[in-house]
Amino acid sequence: MSVTRVRMAPSPTGYFHVGSARTALFNWLFARQRSGTFVLRIEDTDAERNRAEHTEGIERAMLWLGLDWDEGPYFQSERGPLYEAAIKQLLDRDLVYACDCTSEQVAQRNKAAGRPPGYDGYCRDRHLEPVIGRLLRFRTPGTGSTSWTDMVRGDVVYENASIEDFSVRKSNGQPLFILANVVDDGDMAITHVVRGEDHVPNTPKHILLWEALGLGAPPVFAHLPLLVNESRQKLSKRRDKVALEDYRDEGYLPEAMVNYLALLGWSPGGDREVLSRQELIDEFRLEDVKSSPAFFDQQKLSSVNATYMRSLSPAVLAERAGQWLEARWTPLAPLVQERARTLAEIYGMVDFLYLPEVRTDQADWAKVRRQQPAFVGLLEAAEAGFALCEWDAEGIRDATVEAGNKVGVGTLGKAQAPVRLAVTGRTVGPPLFESLVLLGRRRTIARLAAARARAVREDQAQP
Ligand code: GLU
Repeated sequence: MSVTRVRMAPSPTGYFHVGSARTALFNWLFARQRSGTFVLRIEDTDAERNRAEHTEGIERAMLWLGLDWDEGPYFQSERGPLYEAAIKQLLDRDLVYACDCTSEQVAQRNKAAGRPPGYDGYCRDRHLEPVIGRLLRFRTPGTGSTSWTDMVRGDVVYENASIEDFSVRKSNGQPLFILANVVDDGDMAITHVVRGEDHVPNTPKHILLWEALGLGAPPVFAHLPLLVNESRQKLSKRRDKVALEDYRDEGYLPEAMVNYLALLGWSPGGDREVLSRQELIDEFRLEDVKSSPAFFDQQKLSSVNATYMRSLSPAVLAERAGQWLEARWTPLAPLVQERARTLAEIYGMVDFLYLPEVRTDQADWAKVRRQQPAFVGLLEAAEAGFALCEWDAEGIRDATVEAGNKVGVGTLGKAQAPVRLAVTGRTVGPPLFESLVLLGRRRTIARLAAARARAVREDQAQP
């Protein structure tokens, strides 16, 4: 049997999407059932979005699910010379060319000629020199077609004439996604590319580049179906709960999560739904994955999770619940220790970390609203600031001060009060910024938005 090598190639964007978790799982199952190799590669060529903590988040999320990798993580940010060598090879063979066009120029030309948007090949024969400092485009063949047999979608054909001369390197020398992705798949001898359906349009480019670089037979592709919500809309981070770590933090069991994720596009047949990890490895078939969108059903996930919880012995359940609780609040322990007088008081100080909804103390709510006329504006400014600041105590503190300044609320204490109320439901508690670090950016912002909406509703209800 030939060697199977698959990879998970996430871009560090700040959280691990449930769709990425499904992709990682399907790659992992495929590798494990064939005694193949599962590679983890971090696609971090975009230096602005690349942060060490994001990468750690990816690794933590995958390990939580038990998806261990055999090689890597490799970091694209450390592999620049490889991409430069590939570009040199393409330049030497005149398979890429330099281009100076701004997107406005391209748009104008297309508009004047009544063409659809997309690059029009203007610089193809201009042989602009030097190529350094200029964007490089791939010379896509104007005729013929590029096709592959997708393990999920069957035969897919693209007319080459419909593929624009896509760019492979930015003018600042940074390789673009498609180039680094193909070079690495070649270098890492990847045999099967298993990834989300959103990458289908990249695949003809992938194959053209692969061939241009003389990498031999292209890998086999399998594009996994889109995940949708109950309205059949693509999952979106604004609308839906898409971060895997939110499920972890709310106390879903990783084995239940793995089981549920395996059912997103695949089914073991019959009405079986509960499968152990080993059963998944034995029974999963990539070629049986369906191409139609898969409904990410939170209710179903909860019911699978409940099934797993019921199957634990009470002692094991208690132990795992204890571990989970501890993992959440332990970082706050030194701070809580200085304030709580009994063990029971600790609960009231840390429960905001566990409860999915804030339990707001009504007297505290009324007090802060009375004391702070700029409540709504302040929360709005804090939401905007928190979306961008560094997610550590200092960064959050600065963003709070800034939000206060924006709406003319004098002191940090005054700016802090509405934020604390919105997030913890109370006016007193452990140090706020450290607490928010633990609660996480997304949940913090969601709670600010919820409190703001409540305040707006109350104001509107006032005669
Ligand atoms: N970095 C790409 C992504 O996160 C990976 C694409 C691929 O798997 O080829 O979407």
